[in-house]
Amino acid sequence: MTDRPIRVRFAPSPTGMLHVGGLRTALYNFLFARKNGGTFILRIEDTDQGRFVEGALEGLVRSLEGIGVIPDEGVFLRDDPNTPERVASRHSETYPGVSEVGTYGPYIQSERLKLYAGYAEKLIESKKAYRCFCSRERLDLLREKQTADHEAPKYDKLCLSLSDEEVSRRIAAGEPSVIRLDVPEDRDDIVFHDLVRGDVTINARNIDDQILVKTDGYPTYHLASVVDDRLMEITHVIRGEEWLPSTPKHVLLYEAFDWQVPEFAHLPLLLNPDKSKLSKRQGDVAVEDYLAKGYLPEALINFVALLGWNPGQGSTKEVFTLPELSEAFDFSQVNRSGAVFDTRKLDWLNAQYIKVLPIGELATRVTPFLREKPFFLSASEDRKTADYIGRVALIGQERLSVLSAIGDEHPFFFAEPVIDPSLLPWKGNDREMTAESLEKARILLAGLSDSEWTRERLGEILLEAAGEKRGDFLWPLRVALSGAKQSPPPQDIAWVIGKDATLSRIIEAQNVL
Ligand code: GLU
Repeated sequence: MTDRPIRVRFAPSPTGMLHVGGLRTALYNFLFARKNGGTFILRIEDTDQGRFVEGALEGLVRSLEGIGVIPDEGVFLRDDPNTPERVASRHSETYPGVSEVGTYGPYIQSERLKLYAGYAEKLIESKKAYRCFCSRERLDLLREKQTADHEAPKYDKLCLSLSDEEVSRRIAAGEPSVIRLDVPEDRDDIVFHDLVRGDVTINARNIDDQILVKTDGYPTYHLASVVDDRLMEITHVIRGEEWLPSTPKHVLLYEAFDWQVPEFAHLPLLLNPDKSKLSKRQGDVAVEDYLAKGYLPEALINFVALLGWNPGQGSTKEVFTLPELSEAFDFSQVNRSGAVFDTRKLDWLNAQYIKVLPIGELATRVTPFLREKPFFLSASEDRKTADYIGRVALIGQERLSVLSAIGDEHPFFFAEPVIDPSLLPWKGNDREMTAESLEKARILLAGLSDSEWTRERLGEILLEAAGEKRGDFLWPLRVALSGAKQSPPPQDIAWVIGKDATLSRIIEAQNVL
């Protein structure tokens, strides 16, 4: 481990919503920084203007902040309470809704463009890089020939032999060119350390003379990323496995600049249960989609943390708060092999979090979901109060695995049920016996005072009245109150809907019987 202060970064390109894979990368960076007293930086890599998506940067920052993976430094939403006031906060020139915080800024690559070309020029001066004027047509032909000859496609260094005078002349004549890194042909294997994989050795023979600056003067990802990691004093580069093939190129760049190579950690791929690579085509992968469906941010964080990491040492603990994760996280417990994204596990974890939410908070969190449901919208006003929703939430809490499912199994809390008379009699009982039970329940419940109308007391009273033959008494009452084949016990429904609705539903059942 380095003796420099630990600094890590999440460096998304703003090309869409925050994906669960991106969240995992951000989270592992965050946890590693927390565990080691380091700094977690959010940097935006937007040099590929062709992939620019309006609003994507703001969306990414909002998703991270919304879920609680909040950077110490870098890019923040301008009006967000999480934005640290302290150091060198400045508003972004290109993105009006965004502020940049920290002394290593700007943190948005499109605001650092001037800097990269200068670094590439330095490499030309030290003969580590060169100008290349080869046309697309020539490069295509070269690739076709190499492929036909079963050789790895790779630039043939034609322009490396151009004299300085010729290069100057062609630039002055306005000929387009790129800057390439010169990877020596006799270069030894490239070795770098990865916190997940240990020492990784890559044969340098197939490594191309990568482009550092494109014809339009923009840096490539490789150059911008290495320069920024150096200037921002990043000690550990933690990113998805899909970036592993870029790492030897980066190591060569660090060497060309004579800069210290950071440590790397490449996180395992995310897989579907059939082991195919998790992709946007297979359903939802955006963090916002999960939140919109009623997954709690804390459950999603917990789930994503376990995609490739486990607490180790024989621990079977699966429910972790963010501070617990920060305490327990360690790269020695991150797997190399792909992590299966199992939404059943997410549902299970979400249910664990829902079960322990204080009821007032659960009620607050389910309310926006209720407001989208027709049965709620058409309910009477006294069934839309915070108190009423709290009672519904309490009854639903045990079985709820996503917030958005609130009330779906219990529409009778909001609308009067339609009662099917054939459902009312308990097994083998006739109409008379059923009518007797309903009347007994009606008289009993009509005689209760407000103070007896609690969930517990109603339960005691009804069970006592039912005696040995519970079904005879409780089944018709339950059906009268719910209209359903399955529902919570009658005392719970009576408690939620209150005395008046309880009595009127019993009378309605008596009428239809
Ligand atoms: N901008 C790259 C991305 O979109 C970052 C890769 C890296 O972390 O180096 O994921």
